[in-house]
Amino acid sequence: MKSWPAPFIPAIPGHGPDVRVHDTATGRLLDAADAERVGLYVCGITPYDATHLGHAATYVTFDLLGRALRDAGHQVVYVQNVTDIDDPLFERATREGVSWQDLGDGEIALFREDMTALAVIPPDRYIGVVESIDSISAAVADLLASGAAYALPAGDVAGTDVYLDLAQRPGFGAVSGWNRTQMQQVYADRGGDPERGGKRDALDPLLWRAARPGEPAWPHPVRGAGRPGWHIECTAIARDHLGIPFAVQGGGTDLVFPHHEMSAVQSEGLTGGSTYARCYVHQAMVGYHGEKMSKSKGNLVKVSVLRRDGVDPMAIRLLLLAHDHRSPWEYTPELLTAAQSRLARWREALSVTTGPAADEALHGIRAALADGLDSPAALAAVDQWVEQCLTAGGEDQAGPGILARACDALLGVRV
Ligand code: ZN
Repeated sequence: MKSWPAPFIPAIPGHGPDVRVHDTATGRLLDAADAERVGLYVCGITPYDATHLGHAATYVTFDLLGRALRDAGHQVVYVQNVTDIDDPLFERATREGVSWQDLGDGEIALFREDMTALAVIPPDRYIGVVESIDSISAAVADLLASGAAYALPAGDVAGTDVYLDLAQRPGFGAVSGWNRTQMQQVYADRGGDPERGGKRDALDPLLWRAARPGEPAWPHPVRGAGRPGWHIECTAIARDHLGIPFAVQGGGTDLVFPHHEMSAVQSEGLTGGSTYARCYVHQAMVGYHGEKMSKSKGNLVKVSVLRRDGVDPMAIRLLLLAHDHRSPWEYTPELLTAAQSRLARWREALSVTTGPAADEALHGIRAALADGLDSPAALAAVDQWVEQCLTAGGEDQAGPGILARACDALLGVRV
């Protein structure tokens, strides 16, 4: 699938230190890289509505990680999927009387525009589920053949649904660290089907859904026409395009369970027990009007709407970076105004011909990013230089230029 244009990354002096990230599974700071090549998989959108600030926060956070890793000398291989087969997409298409393909194509195009405007470096592989059907259905067939999965008669139609047998998965629970009560509380709301009769365990995830009337379906080599479940798509795409294990699995905190938990145990079933990802990194939810920003709550602040209203995408980026990725926060127009003011001050200071030397600020940005992607501290390092420049000035001829390029290369903020 086509991604979007890559932003220009200016060269800056030196290299950053090794990058450590907060791993959800262990609760510890871990080195994001254990080799020169770093595989990064970030779960992509379901293209049924426009990108809101919560999505943007996720993709900007992992963009920051990719930038820090490249600055530390690593080769980043970044894979992102598009969940272009999913119930919410089909439901909205039916409601609006449009084809799910057209709806998806339109929303993916808007997402590309948002990402381009936000200077997010595109994934090396941008992979849709539709284009991965053969690989996903082969993974389902492998899990059935090994006995790790089981088939259930669909009941309402001919054919069978296929589920993973969690009882055989000793690693289940290792990503989230949750107990069953916690899992059961969110499972139905996050795409699970705990009420489905006949499952061995109510939490067993759907791998393949037999074709139902009015739903798109694809052939399956073993189990007849249908479509893949949500989690197995990512397992198969990560396996094909990164190899297992890979370094970092990323996404929003609403993907910790069940999505990343299930992706990992499905992989365990496919590989005979290998680790799936070495680190799991999550972006906290962004709220608005007292609730998590979500389509179903109708409290979305869309990136495309802010852009249409004339908000500089770099101010949106600064708004997002002002919040640590592990802390949930709530959007207010005042926060956007503050980000716009910060951008204006940065631009004022970084356009001077001489200023303070950039060494300390550059070191501060790099150290903050390497320390668990501490974006607020990285912005503070720039703020400090900016204040000094605007209040006391400086004689360094290279300082303003170096720091402007560092803001662009490391933070993705063009000043
Ligand atoms: Zn995923």
